[in-house]
Amino acid sequence: MAAAESDREVPSALCTEFLNFSAKDTASKWLQVTDLYKEVYQHLARYVPKIYCLGPNLNPQSEDLLAQLLLQAPLEWYLCGEDPSTGLAKLEQNNQPSQLCGHVFRVGEPTYSCRECAADPTCVLCMQCFLGSVHKEHRYRMTTSGGGGFCDCGDTEAWKKGPYCQKHEPNISDSCQEDPLAHLSTDMIARCYNVFAIVLKYAVDMLTWDKEDELPPGLEPPDRGDTYYCMLFNDEVHTYEQVIYTLQKAVNCTQKEAVSFATTVDRDGRKSVRFGDFAFCEQAKSVIVRNTSRQSKPLRVQVMHSSVVAHQCFALKALHWLGHVIGYSDALRRILCQVGLERGPEGENSSLVDTLMLCDSKMWKGARNVYHQLFMSSLLMDLKYKKLFAIQFAKNYRRLQTDFMEDDHERVVSVTSLSVQLFTVPTMARMLITEENLMTTIIRTFVDHLRHRDLQGRFQFERYTAQQAFKFRRVQSLIGDLKYVLISRPTEWSDQLREKFLEGLDTFLELFKCMQGMDPVVRQVGQHIEMEPEWEAAFTLQMKLTHIISMMQEWCATDERVLIEAYKKCLTALTHCHSGFTDGEQPITLSMCGHSVDTIRYCVSQEKVSIHLPVSRLLAGLHVLLSKMEVAYRFPEQLPLSELSPPMLIEHPLRCLVLCAQVHAGMWRRNGFSLVNQIYYYHNVKCRVEMFDKDLIMLQAGASMMDPNHFLMIVLSRFELYHIFSSADCRKSYNRENTNKDVVQQNNTLIEEMLHLIMMVVGERFEAGVGQVEGCDEIKREIIHQLCIRPMAHSELVKALPENENKETGMERVIDCVASFKKPGVTGRGLYELRPECAKQFNLYFHHYSRADQSKAEEAQRKLKRQNGEDMALPPPMLPPFSPLFASLVNILQCDVLLGMLGAVLQWAVEPSGGHWSESMLQRVLHLIGMGLLEEQQQLKNSSEDHDVSFNFTLKISRPGEAPSNTASVLALLENLQNAPHLEVHKDMIRWILKMVASIKTMRELTATTYTVTASGSHGQEEMVCDKDKAERKRKAEMARLRREKIMAQMSEMQRHFINENKELFKQSLEELYASASTSTSLEHSPTSSDAALVCVGPRRSRPREKRQVVTCILCQEEQEIRADSKAMVLAAFVQRSTVMSKNRKRPPHDPEHYDPLFMHPDLSFGTHTGSCGHIMHSHCWQRYFEAVQAKEQRRQQRLRVHTSYDVGNGEFLCPLCECLSNTVIPLLPGTKGSNSCEQPGLGQWLKISGQQIKAMHSAHRKLQPVGVDAVEETEEQCPAPENFRIDYTPMSPYSSTIKEMLTTFGTATYKVGLKVHPNEQDPRVPIMCWGSCAYTIQSIERLLVDEEKPLFGSLPCRQDDCLSSLARFGSACWTAASQPSVQGHYIRLVAALIPDPQVETSPCILDIDMLHLLVSVVLSYGSVHSQDSSGLSVDAVQLHFFHLITVAHMVQMLLTSGPEEVTMEQESGGAEREEEEDICALYNTLRTHLGSSLPEVASGWHLWRCVKTGILPYLRGAALFFHHLNGVPTPPELHAICPGQWEVLCGYLSLPSNLLQLYHSQKELLEPLLYGWCSHPGVRQTLQGGGVLVSFPRESNSLIDLPDDYSALINQASSFTCPKSGGDKSRAPTLCLVCGSMLCSQSYCCQTELDGEDVGACTAHTFACGAGVGIFLRVRESQVLFLSGKTKGCFYAPPYLDDYGETDQGLRRGNPLHLCRQRYRKIQKLWRQHSVTEEIGHAQEANQTLVGIDWQHL
Ligand SMILES: [Zn+2]
Ligand SMILES: [Zn+2]
Ligand SMILES: [Zn+2]
Ligand SMILES: [Zn+2]
Ligand SMILES: [Zn+2]
Ligand SMILES: [Zn+2]
Ligand SMILES: [Zn+2]
Repeated sequence: MAAAESDREVPSALCTEFLNFSAKDTASKWLQVTDLYKEVYQHLARYVPKIYCLGPNLNPQSEDLLAQLLLQAPLEWYLCGEDPSTGLAKLEQNNQPSQLCGHVFRVGEPTYSCRECAADPTCVLCMQCFLGSVHKEHRYRMTTSGGGGFCDCGDTEAWKKGPYCQKHEPNISDSCQEDPLAHLSTDMIARCYNVFAIVLKYAVDMLTWDKEDELPPGLEPPDRGDTYYCMLFNDEVHTYEQVIYTLQKAVNCTQKEAVSFATTVDRDGRKSVRFGDFAFCEQAKSVIVRNTSRQSKPLRVQVMHSSVVAHQCFALKALHWLGHVIGYSDALRRILCQVGLERGPEGENSSLVDTLMLCDSKMWKGARNVYHQLFMSSLLMDLKYKKLFAIQFAKNYRRLQTDFMEDDHERVVSVTSLSVQLFTVPTMARMLITEENLMTTIIRTFVDHLRHRDLQGRFQFERYTAQQAFKFRRVQSLIGDLKYVLISRPTEWSDQLREKFLEGLDTFLELFKCMQGMDPVVRQVGQHIEMEPEWEAAFTLQMKLTHIISMMQEWCATDERVLIEAYKKCLTALTHCHSGFTDGEQPITLSMCGHSVDTIRYCVSQEKVSIHLPVSRLLAGLHVLLSKMEVAYRFPEQLPLSELSPPMLIEHPLRCLVLCAQVHAGMWRRNGFSLVNQIYYYHNVKCRVEMFDKDLIMLQAGASMMDPNHFLMIVLSRFELYHIFSSADCRKSYNRENTNKDVVQQNNTLIEEMLHLIMMVVGERFEAGVGQVEGCDEIKREIIHQLCIRPMAHSELVKALPENENKETGMERVIDCVASFKKPGVTGRGLYELRPECAKQFNLYFHHYSRADQSKAEEAQRKLKRQNGEDMALPPPMLPPFSPLFASLVNILQCDVLLGMLGAVLQWAVEPSGGHWSESMLQRVLHLIGMGLLEEQQQLKNSSEDHDVSFNFTLKISRPGEAPSNTASVLALLENLQNAPHLEVHKDMIRWILKMVASIKTMRELTATTYTVTASGSHGQEEMVCDKDKAERKRKAEMARLRREKIMAQMSEMQRHFINENKELFKQSLEELYASASTSTSLEHSPTSSDAALVCVGPRRSRPREKRQVVTCILCQEEQEIRADSKAMVLAAFVQRSTVMSKNRKRPPHDPEHYDPLFMHPDLSFGTHTGSCGHIMHSHCWQRYFEAVQAKEQRRQQRLRVHTSYDVGNGEFLCPLCECLSNTVIPLLPGTKGSNSCEQPGLGQWLKISGQQIKAMHSAHRKLQPVGVDAVEETEEQCPAPENFRIDYTPMSPYSSTIKEMLTTFGTATYKVGLKVHPNEQDPRVPIMCWGSCAYTIQSIERLLVDEEKPLFGSLPCRQDDCLSSLARFGSACWTAASQPSVQGHYIRLVAALIPDPQVETSPCILDIDMLHLLVSVVLSYGSVHSQDSSGLSVDAVQLHFFHLITVAHMVQMLLTSGPEEVTMEQESGGAEREEEEDICALYNTLRTHLGSSLPEVASGWHLWRCVKTGILPYLRGAALFFHHLNGVPTPPELHAICPGQWEVLCGYLSLPSNLLQLYHSQKELLEPLLYGWCSHPGVRQTLQGGGVLVSFPRESNSLIDLPDDYSALINQASSFTCPKSGGDKSRAPTLCLVCGSMLCSQSYCCQTELDGEDVGACTAHTFACGAGVGIFLRVRESQVLFLSGKTKGCFYAPPYLDDYGETDQGLRRGNPLHLCRQRYRKIQKLWRQHSVTEEIGHAQEANQTLVGIDWQHL
């Protein structure tokens, strides 16, 4: 391609020009010219196209270099008037930097805000500043930045306290006010001005340039080539996949290239995808457009001339350069600001800065980012120009927002997002309001963009299209801006500010008028609504505006005049709204109990009603403020109080509350879910402050101005209950005539709701202004009522409390007075519990309780009372007094209409047979009566001596009822009810009421005479105690019975579930199933001290207890003895690859096909672990079960492609009893019988026999090999087999056919999983893998016991004991299922590593062998040799010889790797081990004679003996576990505890001398040649000289990586992490491997790699390299632990980081500081060390099916 050539030509073409070019000369030429502008443009026109964009592949390094030399250098020379390196340095020296930090945040970088000192939550600090600030000791909030924005350190307006960190503390001697330009010469200023003006103009010209094929005047290149780019632009419509697919088609690139193109387009906003002549590019363009235009608008593509692209590239470079240069000096920065904001020739709003802003939405993402960045480092860092810029921004505000509506980019890359930097500065916001009328501008822009209205001019969201919904989302950002403007309240008001604020409020009320009454609903009768109406948009609007409304009120609260004006305006608006809707409603007159009132006829259930009433609610808010600020009493003349019509005020809020009641009563069922949702949000904590709460206040305000009887009649009428209570005989059940059950039920609920509403109107006094309370009383009360439900975590409480605009609930100030904190354990979270003394403030009818909350709270509080031995009444709490403006509300309690209603309900309760009443109704009536009594008691207490208390509730309730005349009084009815048998539950409450009445009567009598108050409700209970005791006992017995029943029910439910799952298998009862879960009967663990010394290996080994092993199959419940010739029994098992113990994570994975696993390297880099849940089945039962699972799975997949937590295709299944993940089964085998032959050969003799046997096998095997392969030499010495060694004898397998089959099953599974290969039972490596797994599992368990500080024996759960036994015994039997010669071949090679054998090539050197693996393998493979030996040589003797030999080899291995001694160690050993020290010195010196200088000289044996003794211990413990389980020998009791003297016991048990050196010294002559052989292996010398991996002993247990205590350190680390593949890009999901500490770029295209032919994410790929398929990660941005296993399994796990409230923050949403909880981290580490991660995932997936569907491999 032509492009490639030109690529190479670049340097040479420019070479001559470059050599002749002098920046200095150019600059001095420029100093002379008159038209500098033209001159510089010519220079750029000449050079820019020669440097940039010369081929398809950009070459940033050389471009940057050339641009620096040819373009920037002359500018800098000109600017400085001297060599820039000295000039700029001088500038920097003279600079007095501003105190602003201004650090611009990277995506994902941690930011800190102070909840106590920040002016608003947008004020943040960078980590550096935070750590040096006072706020780190405060209650701070930590979040991760979304990119953009900068550190506010040094901004005095952003912080109420501590605005500077240590670094940015201003120097007092500096005069901050000084003009930074004062230090510069006028010449310098002029030059600077010139350069900045030209460069900025150039950049603006080029970035806003929209022609593809020509350049601005003055920049046309002298020689124009015919090269073009096909430029692809970013949009938010098309997905990655679409772009990648299209590009592959259009420009014929590979998938990889397409991914890279797409990534760049996404990041930079554009990318050239083709270079060449015009036609060539045009063709690609048309393909792209054609391919992407089908569903949506096509991708934007332009064919651009290369010189245009070149200039645009340099324009970006130039902006970078400007940003760089102004960094040297604040003076330069100020000049740049001046240049940028200078008015252009077109007049207002034509400066370069304006031009950029106004073209923002036309620019590509990369360009926007660069110039935004420059704005931030220039305009926003200079306080003077920040103000000027803010004014321009406000002037352009409307246009910018309008452009943004059409822009298809996210807000972060829009210039409109700068509003947060400008509007949140309080002085600036105030200035913009007064001077630019910003508040009005914002609201008006907002209203203009919501165009859809109905006939009355209200918003109509019903028919919003997706396009409009998108716009609606965008418009909401304007509300955010308004919030910034209002967030700090003025402390002083100027007349102008008042005027502009009220103007803003006017506009705001216009907006509200469009909302008042929007989305009205009409009750659906007959059929169900056809389509759920749209409701979310309206609620979203309301929700977004909530804080704005509250803030508006708070602004009003700071100035009386503003408040009065606002109140008037709001009232006018409300009157205006009402004029529209009330006509057509008939006037009627209601009368009841001797009172009558005029109102209108209106039925919520028949006419339109709307839940949106912002005007009424704003007025309610302002009304409360009038009361709170006492304006109402001080300036009554200024208020339009006479204009208020209370019935008008309450009308709409009342309708809304009635609507809720009717919905609860089920009358609106046919209106569908949208209404239910609306009602839910109306009460929800996010909305209620400006919805439900304000409606209630409006009712209170209205009622306080009305006759209570009138108020109640209107309420009754709106509830459509008037007819029930108004009829003359209402006390006789109201529903006689009404037989429709539904209607009766509805009316009952409505009466309950209405009574509740009355309680709220009279009782809710915790809003400052309504009642005489402080602000914190309200929040205290909220918390108390939440905690009355149950103890709660901090985050739960936060969720239940309304947040203000700063996301604060105010909880911290008061929580400690009402609650105590209980710390969490290893699981769960910290909880707050209510302080007992606060329980008396509990109000069962708390207005923010949902019905569910209410009944939970009731239950909890009754339970508490029972526990405290109190009576069961839950009377109303004491209430604070009303504010004067609301004081008349108490009269509702004693008004005639209410008393009439109370009397009626009580009468119904007395005669329940006839009437349909409800207990809740009665309960509410009792509560209301209680409220009346408490009110009277309060007033009596507080009244002064001579003043008579007019509130006389007791008197009123003692009077006979009026309608019908002379019925029983309320009090009489209560006394009557006290003994009613059907009201048992309410007795305590009635008793409480009657006692109150008595006590108040006494009080009244006493006040008349002595004026003292004594009695209160809870005295004199003695007489009840006795009854109560009896009742209590009965109740407890009942509770116990219920609990038992519940448990039984749960159990049978569990069983049923289990049986259903496995129907095919279970025919019989499962009664005993749970009892027989383990085999522990079969193995004797309990130590017996009768045997003097237990020995587990060698001819002297103790006999296993001869006991029949009988186990029970968990599937068929039959018992079965374990015998070689009986039916096979198997253990469910899970085999997995493991790197948990690896000491070398750098070792590359093996090639599975050719890897030779016979010898394990001591670095243990890969192993195979086997675990089991310990559950035993018949092999045939298991097979049937597994087949059933398979069949079920097949059916399931066909039906509904559901995944399961286990992969049947891979042999996985869940244990039928415990659902533990398994992938194979291990057969159970009987233990070996000890042989009893007495005379056994010594070491020398055995070595000889063994040598002969091996020779015989060698020659026998050679015969087996096909001739030709090995035809070179026929062995000269045909070795005669030793006597009694029948080399041709093939032994019979002692096992039954099913056991044989299972031997193959488990062997093949281990082989398949361990090597990651396809199963092949013929492969000679099968037995090796089994031995290896046995050794590895033993080692891993040995480590676990050490880590957990548990004794070697007796502390393992049975399942692990069972697993180890069966593994060891399986290992010794598995040769019978393989080819004997191949097993013998393994044996020969294993032995050769110990006893050099010239016929075996390539034995590893002893430094490369893990000795426990060698021991296990050689012992287990010996069976194949022994089967041919009939000489009477016992297996025990051979095991012991091998064990001794390997032990010596291990000691030698350790001596070779022991390293230099530590100098400071105490070297006195007290002589006890003198012998060992001398012996070991002797051995060491022998080794030195063999190896010479490779081993350092050692002075004393003390150090060596220490090393060997500690180093060999894990091996000895492993060997003890191995022989114990292999031979079934009981364990010595001393090893069942951790106590001194273990060494001797362990050595004794292993048949070793406690001075291990005796092994060597007693057989010196025999061992000397071996020693020599080991040392002379070339590998030894090579490794010692640093040529290999040297492992030192003992190997420490691996731990998960250390994590920092403070979580933000991790966030910071992750934020500077860049994706390793896409050149310096930030990673979206940085994820930390907790095993090795690698940071990965997870869940992203860029870092996908191929694994076994499938694309997988970085984490999955890493698990295979680092954890053999199992991974433990921390997702840093989510604060979440991730477990992965294989490619398809995973789950999330709680992170080990907790906040001060003992809670995790998954997703980092709350922002509380998080600290490491070591206990929890250790728990995760334990899961890992136990190899339980996969099991944990299985359980998590079984518990939560959605986890199964996640594509874990993409993480
Ligand atoms: Zn900072
Ligand atoms: Zn700072
Ligand atoms: Zn602070
Ligand atoms: Zn069975
Ligand atoms: Zn199990
Ligand atoms: Zn790792
Ligand atoms: Zn990446």
